[in-house]
Amino acid sequence: MKGLRELKPEHKRVLIRADFNVPLENGVIKDNTRIVQELPTINYLLEHRAKIILMSHLGRPKGFDKALSLEPVSKELSKLLNTKITFMKDCIGDSVKNAVNSMKDRDIILLENTRFYKEDKENNEEFAKKLASLGDVFVMDAFGASHRADASTLGVQRFLQSYYGFLVEKEIKNIKHVLTADEHPFVAVLGGAKVSDKIGVINNLLKKADYILLGGGMPFPFLLRMGLNIGSSILDGESVKTIEPFFKNKKIILPKDFLVAENTRSTHAENVDFDKIPDGSIALDIGKKTIREFSEIIRNAKMVVWNGPMGLFENPVFAKGTIEIGKAVSCAEFSLVGGGDTTSALKDINVKFTHVSTGGGAMLEMLAGKKLKALPGIEIS
Ligand code: ADP
Ligand code: MG
Repeated sequence: MKGLRELKPEHKRVLIRADFNVPLENGVIKDNTRIVQELPTINYLLEHRAKIILMSHLGRPKGFDKALSLEPVSKELSKLLNTKITFMKDCIGDSVKNAVNSMKDRDIILLENTRFYKEDKENNEEFAKKLASLGDVFVMDAFGASHRADASTLGVQRFLQSYYGFLVEKEIKNIKHVLTADEHPFVAVLGGAKVSDKIGVINNLLKKADYILLGGGMPFPFLLRMGLNIGSSILDGESVKTIEPFFKNKKIILPKDFLVAENTRSTHAENVDFDKIPDGSIALDIGKKTIREFSEIIRNAKMVVWNGPMGLFENPVFAKGTIEIGKAVSCAEFSLVGGGDTTSALKDINVKFTHVSTGGGAMLEMLAGKKLKALPGIEIS
């Protein structure tokens, strides 16, 4: 796979796999970051007089689902580029073929959600061939979907000369920096609810990081393994086994205290030490002492990577840990932040990071040292 600058796109039909998987509520786009991040690739191809055919998935539809149509994305993209976008009601078939065949240079077509066909996730060869027939070349720019081998991300690459776009390039450069730069102190902060996904990252990060700070649902398998009570806190049984190889590692820092409550909708919380979580109560945020300790470690760091909120931030009673850690992380010389919920938790506070990744899962897989399935041949470490 080559970089986009190696392509001579003039007059070619360029099929782009973008990541327009944006949060939607009743057809309204709640956060257009992923669309904005795609503009450099599109603008470059416009400047070079290409014909642009965009495709993406959105959500997890089971067959055609109007609520997950890419039509709102088409409108938003048209607004951002201040140009006409032709939106197709399908991603394959005769109407799409005809539209593509009558394109002029600098025309833009957006295809309908590729996941309306189950063949996309199945990486079905026939389906990939149909998509590929729409372009002369392929540009993979959906970083957020690059850890999945789908027809629209990987399958099409069997039929077309393939390049990676500017968004992928930027993401890889920043994540690679974290994996290769010899800057210390290097601190990793992990939280959130997808605990078993994130435990895989710990192993690889332990090789490089000076500290790994755990918040959100991450500490509970450790506390349980230490024989402590975690009340009704979030726990995935498997993770207690997975942490065995490193559960005593001194680089891993667990919270000293938590905010606990009876349930997730509570309007007040109690601050308790980590070894005093009462039966029946849920630890829903890191406590005061932990915020102080974590913030200090983070503020002294040169490089920080962060994925996963520190607590159940959707309830303001449990948002403080995430917000305070966000402020500390933004002070680091180099900060890499990723994860859909992590970035959405921070959108109302005014903090800046070196790089905010558009792909939580893909970023984690890269940090865990895995190859990204839909970016074959791209060296990541
Ligand atoms: P991201 O999308 O940033 O990768 P995850 O999807 O793994 O993060 O987790 C985000 C979710 O984790 C949020 O909905 C948040 O409320 C939840 N969460 C964080 N801490 C806790 C906790 N202590 N108990 C229950 N849920 C939590
Ligand atoms: Mg999430």
